[in-house]
Amino acid sequence: MDAFNDEPIIDLRRYDDREHLLLASFATHSRDSLGRIHPEQDHSYRGPYARDRDRILHSSAFRRLSGKMQVFTGEMGIYHRTRLTHTFEVSSVARTISRVLRLNEDLTEALALMHDIGHPPYGHCGEDVLDECLADVGGFSHNQFALVIVQQLEKRYQAFDGLNLCRETLGGQDIRANKKAASVGRSPGLEIQVVDAADSIAYDAHDVDDALQLGLLSIEQLADLSIIRRALDAINHANGSVPKQQVRQLLVHELIDLQVSDLINQNGELLLPLQGRSSEDLSEAGLRLHHSPVLEAERNELERFLFDAVYRHERLIPVREAAGKRLLVLFEKLVANPERLPMRFRQRADHFSPAIATGEYLAGMTDNFCDRQFQQITSLASGPLADW
Ligand code: MG
Repeated sequence: MDAFNDEPIIDLRRYDDREHLLLASFATHSRDSLGRIHPEQDHSYRGPYARDRDRILHSSAFRRLSGKMQVFTGEMGIYHRTRLTHTFEVSSVARTISRVLRLNEDLTEALALMHDIGHPPYGHCGEDVLDECLADVGGFSHNQFALVIVQQLEKRYQAFDGLNLCRETLGGQDIRANKKAASVGRSPGLEIQVVDAADSIAYDAHDVDDALQLGLLSIEQLADLSIIRRALDAINHANGSVPKQQVRQLLVHELIDLQVSDLINQNGELLLPLQGRSSEDLSEAGLRLHHSPVLEAERNELERFLFDAVYRHERLIPVREAAGKRLLVLFEKLVANPERLPMRFRQRADHFSPAIATGEYLAGMTDNFCDRQFQQITSLASGPLADW
């Protein structure tokens, strides 16, 4: 207690005091955490989710995201996004939304940094190939593989495998991995929903940017879409007439701003009368964050357009097919010859199956590392391939 009045003293160095002061009642509060599978002592000033964020940031799987392409695989220049830059964009958008809605920014950031950590090499085509290769053992999902990485494959501690993250952080990723199960009745915690929304906002905007930069699309083609017209109007209104070469940068900025503002406006109002309710109350009531109906329709229109005009662009197809072929050859040769897997994956092949261990080994590779292992396995060289 304060000596001069009856108010309890708030010590902002303590994370539970900070959260008590800054977060809404319906945020995920660290003091309510269900803890870690292997109990650890509390840290004096870093909250449990801030520690999770740091563990993910310092993991080797996180660093490998810099060598994994998002959409544009192969020799297509160095401008476009990698999984790492995409992840930082998602994290930045998600933290902005989380802070304004008074949610737990540390948990949001941990979830955002982890959300794509399980992606295989070669973008979406890598995922499709692995999913087919592993069809007999349940297929491949990068969301599920992220959990294998943080719970089994990362090594940080002597006593156990994995990063020993909090149950809420693992639970958030688990909901991404098992979306259908989560959609019945209950809704995911708001921090999880914010990361989901930020992921989709970020990739729509940067796929537009990358596709324009690579010359797969023109501004004129895009201007038929309602959301793009709205963004271009806002740009012209704020800047007067803009030189054509600057429109692309301004457009990406405006597309993100427009969607983030819409989400905050829609849900800020929705959440205002719910102050006093807990995160659990809102999940039980099935509360879902949403865009305005107008923006939702515009986003759908943009995504349909990008799917046809970019993801299935004729310049991407041969690059993807060649990359997919390399992955397939590696998979088939390693499943037939598991002695060529690096030691720890040979052990996993004995424990699980050669197909599962091979899938994990391939999924952890960067694009370049995968290219090199392909050369190795199709050469006359023998012996195990390199570990990542
Ligand atoms: Mg993503």
